[in-house]
Amino acid sequence: MSGPLWDPGPACATREREYDVVIVGSGAGGGAVAKELVPLAKDGLRVAVLEWGPRFRDDEFTGRELDMAGKLYFDSGGFLTRDRSMTLAFARAYGGSTVVYTGTSLTIKKRVVESWRIPDLGWEDLRHRSAKYIEENNVHLLLDEEVNENNRLFLSGCRKLGYRVEQFPVNVQGCRGSGLCNLGCPNAAKQGTNRVQLPAAERGGVEVVTRCQVTRIGERWVEATVHPAGDFGLPPEWEPGRYRIRARAIVVAAGVVNSPSLLLASGFGDRLPALGRYLTVHPALILVGEHARRITNYHGHPKSYYCDHFEESDRFLLETCMYFPFTTAKNLAGFGAEPAELLSAYERLQMILVLALDRADPENRVAVDREGKPVVHYRVGEDVIRSLLAAMRASTRIFFAAGARRVHAPAAPAFFLHPEQANDLDRLIDRRHFHLGRISISGAHLMGGCRMGTSPTDSVANAWGEVHGCPWLFVADASLFPGAADINPYVTIMAFADRVAERVREKIRELARAT
Ligand SMILES: Cc1cc2nc3c(=O)[nH]c(=O)nc-3n(C[C@H](O)[C@H](O)[C@H](O)COP(=O)(O)OP(=O)(O)OC[C@H]3O[C@@H](n4cnc5c(N)ncnc54)[C@H](O)[C@@H]3O)c2cc1C
Ligand code: SF4
Repeated sequence: MSGPLWDPGPACATREREYDVVIVGSGAGGGAVAKELVPLAKDGLRVAVLEWGPRFRDDEFTGRELDMAGKLYFDSGGFLTRDRSMTLAFARAYGGSTVVYTGTSLTIKKRVVESWRIPDLGWEDLRHRSAKYIEENNVHLLLDEEVNENNRLFLSGCRKLGYRVEQFPVNVQGCRGSGLCNLGCPNAAKQGTNRVQLPAAERGGVEVVTRCQVTRIGERWVEATVHPAGDFGLPPEWEPGRYRIRARAIVVAAGVVNSPSLLLASGFGDRLPALGRYLTVHPALILVGEHARRITNYHGHPKSYYCDHFEESDRFLLETCMYFPFTTAKNLAGFGAEPAELLSAYERLQMILVLALDRADPENRVAVDREGKPVVHYRVGEDVIRSLLAAMRASTRIFFAAGARRVHAPAAPAFFLHPEQANDLDRLIDRRHFHLGRISISGAHLMGGCRMGTSPTDSVANAWGEVHGCPWLFVADASLFPGAADINPYVTIMAFADRVAERVREKIRELARAT
């Protein structure tokens, strides 16, 4: 799915609506704001969430990889950057990318927040707000017996090598270990905004309008198209057609690709030169090790451990993962007999997700084409390649320490590496074998584009998400990150959104007087 799903045509009349607050997008950021504005709804103010994606029925999460990827993700999860060196994954649904995330729930580190040097954005405040969402989302460590072998092998490999390794807290309730988190949980166990914040917001009087694509933002109004019911998901709450919605405050939470592109397409680029810029994505790749025997891998929660041993020295993180057959195939470097052999050993595969911790660069940015559609410019720089190479070496050591019989590392001279080569990895996994375009790099931790800061020359919003120079306009999603989170970001996004909601609550009456 990409671009508008339906065009009502020029003859369609534009309907008018009026609200006190309109929130664009219902993911980690938008969902959190919606719930935090319930006090306003209870006071009789009108609050609406406008979400492009549909509401899925519980029985529609079938776990079928290609079917669900096409329904849930923009471009089926394969949104390409301009130079085609990387794909980006982000979702379109009631609940946004929290419908497809894995639910690992970490609090941002103090050193990262301090490195941003934004007065009024303290780590203690973010920690405190993160704790609230950690509790709200039932975040906890899985019991030992709930951790599968794919995860245990990572743990034992790291421990043998002396690498620091931690267990991921996850936000599940009644997890049945189906391993399908990234295709939408079929057991209603994962506590995304579709399960927690949005239903609570709706119970509290906030309206959620699905299939509602905001196409333009102006001073205290948005234009939107409500798309008709499709082959899946529930019908929209409003009549399909074109709408112009006036609001005293507008909160943009359409995600890292869509928030900046919507604002750029609406003409905000002239007064905000940093709009779209300083994008970071934690460029990632999947590594695969093959064991001689069958292991439990695709049963059980996929992500139980991470290794942050190298985050400061080599700027990478390692996480356990288990991807579906198509995604795994896409991530192998090469074609022919060897990839086929590896894929046919699916039940013997151990997987590690490697994430480079990239730095914010103004040239990495979201732009728009002539039709106003997003175009993402991201150059995979030498620092990222160095991190990915170091991460491949560390992961290969972990696989062998865990007993793998061979490993596929995509920047090695041969498709498979064998245990007897373990002492020669510095030479074998090398820059000469790292070819962009041949190695499948993807990003799912998208950050920046409407970054927080103090000045409109290098930021878009202040530390409370208020857009510089527009008192009625707020941003409340992952695009606020001034630089990469260096960890899985959703809890921090909710903490940012919590601050934005607080500011909207404080300012709404003043904004009402100004209109
Ligand atoms: C496969 C995957 C796994 C992940 N796993 C984890 C994890 O384990 N832990 C973690 O911390 N993070 C994880 N993440 C990242 C996390 O999900 C995101 O960082 C987070 O959801 C981003 O929140 P957001 O509010 O910025 O955007 P999103 O959650 O993407 O929400 C944006 C919403 O805005 C809507 N929208 C866009 N444009 C418009 C428009 N014009 N009009 C109306 N609505 C619009 C979209 O449809 C979408 O629903 C994962 C991401 C992916 C893709
Ligand atoms: S592993 Fe747990 S949270 Fe993930 S899809 Fe299965 S039941 Fe849902």
